[in-house]
Amino acid sequence: MKRSLWTASIDTFRCPPWVCPVCNTGAVTMVKDSLVFAETAESLRWHIDENWDPDWIQYTFTAWGQCQHSSCNQRFAISGTGGVGPEVGEEGEMQWGDYFLPAACHPMPSIIGLPDKCPDNVKRELESSFALFWSHPEACAGRIRVALELLMDHVGVPREKTDSKGKERLLDLHARIDLYTAGNVEAGTQLMALKWLGNAGSHGNAVSKTDLLDAFEVLEHVLLEILDKRSEKVAMLAKKLTEKHSKKKK
Ligand SMILES: [Zn+2]
Repeated sequence: MKRSLWTASIDTFRCPPWVCPVCNTGAVTMVKDSLVFAETAESLRWHIDENWDPDWIQYTFTAWGQCQHSSCNQRFAISGTGGVGPEVGEEGEMQWGDYFLPAACHPMPSIIGLPDKCPDNVKRELESSFALFWSHPEACAGRIRVALELLMDHVGVPREKTDSKGKERLLDLHARIDLYTAGNVEAGTQLMALKWLGNAGSHGNAVSKTDLLDAFEVLEHVLLEILDKRSEKVAMLAKKLTEKHSKKKK
């Protein structure tokens, strides 16, 4: 996962090289002259204010991206907001320049790679979380939380437990991750960190893009660990190598 791809602004001729989610190979580039922008009505009204400065300007924009893979060429509808900020000119002087921040892209590129073994329902929730990343961080965190519940189902952690009085009680996500952690401390601890973020989102607390990128980075790792047993595989390979070479020495 390359974090800068998801925080970068775009300009009239360039967007970050997101990997195309259709062919999973080509990078998205901006279609020449496709970015169209306009100042918002509110922003136009602000011009009469005596304190007005160019950095008060707010834009909305639409643009087209295209996958560069010759046999794919998928088009991407991009939209968002923008403004004017200080930038360094060609001769090192400070000047005002337009910038644009994507709020939506359709189809939405994947923020993290998902293992082939990722169950479809977990994948669907995570794809929804990618689409909400720019426009609604709290809702994005909420989709990650739902994906965690579905992941717990997939690995066989029960949703209910019989209490001491013989009554069936629903287990919350915290309790389910605790159960999972008993058998896999490392991955369980990482899942618990993601659960806290989902809590913040659903209780209306602010979730920053940095928080979400941290979560996606942990998630990318932990999904491979749980679904692909990456550490186990590497340990097996290491063991095989060690055995082979230690035998040679003898
Ligand atoms: Zn493509």
